Amino acid sequence: MSGGGDKHLKPATKLVRGGRRPEWTGPVVNPPVWRASTHLYEKDADRQAAGGNNNDGQFFYGRRGSPTQWALAEALTQLEPGAAGTVLYPSGVAAIAGGLLAVLKPGDRLLMADNAYDPSRSMATGLLKRLGVTTTFFDPLDLDAYRTLFAEPVRAVWLESPGSLTFEVCDVPALAAIARDHGAVSLIDNTWASPLGFAALSHGCDITMMSLSKHVGGHSDLMMGSASAGERWYRALRRTAQDLGQVVSPDDAALAARGLRTMGLRLEAQTRSALKIAQWLEAQPQVARVLSPLLPSDPGHALWRRDFTGGCGLFGFVLASADRTAAARVVDALQLFGIGYSWGGYESLALVTTPQDHRTVMPSPDTAGPAIRLAIGLEDADDLIADLAEALAGKETP
Ligand SMILES: *Cc1c(COP(=O)(O)O)cnc(C)c1O
Repeated sequence: MSGGGDKHLKPATKLVRGGRRPEWTGPVVNPPVWRASTHLYEKDADRQAAGGNNNDGQFFYGRRGSPTQWALAEALTQLEPGAAGTVLYPSGVAAIAGGLLAVLKPGDRLLMADNAYDPSRSMATGLLKRLGVTTTFFDPLDLDAYRTLFAEPVRAVWLESPGSLTFEVCDVPALAAIARDHGAVSLIDNTWASPLGFAALSHGCDITMMSLSKHVGGHSDLMMGSASAGERWYRALRRTAQDLGQVVSPDDAALAARGLRTMGLRLEAQTRSALKIAQWLEAQPQVARVLSPLLPSDPGHALWRRDFTGGCGLFGFVLASADRTAAARVVDALQLFGIGYSWGGYESLALVTTPQDHRTVMPSPDTAGPAIRLAIGLEDADDLIADLAEALAGKETP
């Protein structure tokens, strides 16, 4: 779905205005939920005209959406500088598949960052391999080694920054520029930062995707994904999504749009709390290392400051006793953190992770042990710190 005017406005204003075209909202504030498979026509000729006009914002049939989905897609496009349009998918993983399948064909070679989200890795080694695409995993922090991989033809590069579980920030503009110089397409999983924290297309990527189940939904009650791109790749994304029959329900689109309106405030609050908690954790004797580019001490902090305009509440830490049982004991002892997947909701979550199980190239000596991933919600940061203090202390008792 293409974006309209409002390009000059600041992100906070775009979050409020995005997609609320008067012809979609009518006299109310939010675009109503158009729950429909069938769109009715006056005459056969009207139906024929609609079928031939496969453009955004045209009624045709439920699979091409209605104003509820168009409004969300348009709001996301307006947030993404350089985007011509956004495609919605029923999950973030479906958006990853939608992006990769729009670009790749049998015989192609894909380079994938070694710290990509594990289901992205599985897609490369499973589905894409069966379709005749070969994948080489690479260390996104080693530009020299990455450059040598272009000795053989490369069709596409898959990036994620900060990396999943270990949160390394990579030099996206440099990686994307090298790809472009070799005629390769750059795709990025921008779920962590969202367009509010990282303008992926302006930094050289061709296609950017995110899981809307995280920050956009924001309330742990919906699954959705999106991919945005400039004109050329937006057309390819849209075509491929239509071929695959991808559609999101209008009810979920309305929920996601509702979440989007407050995403900026939530991200600001969660980033502030995450930094405070990460700094506190850094000073604890039971903690070997905190994995967060928000911290000035983090190796990725300089790049994060250079390229990003925001953060989020998600980061990790490694216990001094690099032992899975100890990590599980800490997580089990937490009272204010739920144990569960996903993140970006209003409530805090904790999870024991084992990054080394999801890497084949990157050396990660100090993150090799099990880590704990925290998704900081909207609770008071001091309450969360007190909870962490008790859980870390409890781990000492036999
Ligand atoms: C959760 C997540 C996804 C997948 O999103 P779903 O909506 O859960 O399918 C993709 N990338 C990252 C980085 C994620 O954290």
